[in-house]
Amino acid sequence: MLLLIPGPVQTRPETRAAMAQDIAPWDNDFRPTYASIRERVRVLAGGVEGMHATLPLQGCGHFMMEAAIRTFVPAGGKLLIPQNGAYADRAVRLATEAGRVVVALPGPDTRPVTAEEIAAALAADPAISHVAMIHNETGSGIVNDPEVIGPAVRAAGRRLILDSVSAFGALPVNLADHPEIDALIFTSGKCLEGLPGIGFAVARIDSVTAAAGNAGSWAFDLSDVYAHALRAGWGSFRFTPPVQSLAAFSVALDLHEREGGQPARLARYRENARAMYDGVRALGMAPYLDWAHQGPVIVTVHQPADPAFELQPFVDALKRRGVLISNFWNTQAPTFRVGCIGAVTPEDIRGAVAAIDGALRELGVTRREASGNDAPRQKVSARDDD
Ligand SMILES: *Cc1c(COP(=O)(O)O)cnc(C)c1O
Repeated sequence: MLLLIPGPVQTRPETRAAMAQDIAPWDNDFRPTYASIRERVRVLAGGVEGMHATLPLQGCGHFMMEAAIRTFVPAGGKLLIPQNGAYADRAVRLATEAGRVVVALPGPDTRPVTAEEIAAALAADPAISHVAMIHNETGSGIVNDPEVIGPAVRAAGRRLILDSVSAFGALPVNLADHPEIDALIFTSGKCLEGLPGIGFAVARIDSVTAAAGNAGSWAFDLSDVYAHALRAGWGSFRFTPPVQSLAAFSVALDLHEREGGQPARLARYRENARAMYDGVRALGMAPYLDWAHQGPVIVTVHQPADPAFELQPFVDALKRRGVLISNFWNTQAPTFRVGCIGAVTPEDIRGAVAAIDGALRELGVTRREASGNDAPRQKVSARDDD
């Protein structure tokens, strides 16, 4: 089966094989593995020794985002969230339920937020201490670029939390150039092509130490993760970690490096996205985004106008052809989405395009242009659980 979803992604056999062992997390053979993962991840993020630290948490990206928001934004404090997609909606909910005050900056999910919009929103409200931004918006496929937004946040004297969960490892970000970033967030199971199970924040040490006491949660307090590392060592965990997933992640990092690191991975994903974008157009369908705003991680496609098209039967027909895509959409208009990340090549993508054609034929979908019922842009997601 070819897994074309934006995480957890298709992995390489060597990566999966590393999970097939029993491991004690505190064992002296494993501690260096974990410590070296933290170090390698910091270097990958462009973090500076003594200035940045890798602070992992067991679990998923949402846990990591909640931890970062709780740790860096004081209880009752204000943060700005450019709300131009489904994952930004989730960040709004996370922050609100954590008792932080969200100032939402709504925008269409078809283009990135601009530096001017961020600067104006920050100028209008001096009480905002942080901006929390989604790097790659996994709902639609647009990219909010930290190279564009970071300087605006910096100029306004505010701090940035960057949700780079579906971007890091492929899209560039170099923390040494971004003193405004308190935390860069990502997980093991997306562009770094590991198995799911562990989340990472690469964070500024001065911000982390200044934030002690903010979180209102022991489990989600990144300043406590840092304090624990100082006390017990960089190879030690506060709570039981997903050790097998970490063992696999170490191999995934080797493979990332061997491929040529972030630039090579980005180049492959871009080629994947190009092949999917051009492929569906050649089949008569309409991609959701203009090419100018199309990121390399997922391609979303308008659902065809033909009444014979229904998403779940389409996904099932595609699965019978060996390709698995998401069975839900969370853009502002009905779409289906195809992940272009993971251990997947442009050749695989061309095969998937042929499978899409086969599935549409099987279902009798002849009118393949956009259904057009996206005129009233309602701010809803088709599904709320991913
Ligand atoms: C995948 C993803 C997350 C986290 O998802 P989890 O299911 O919690 O791991 C967060 N933000 C973005 C942009 C994502 O793509």
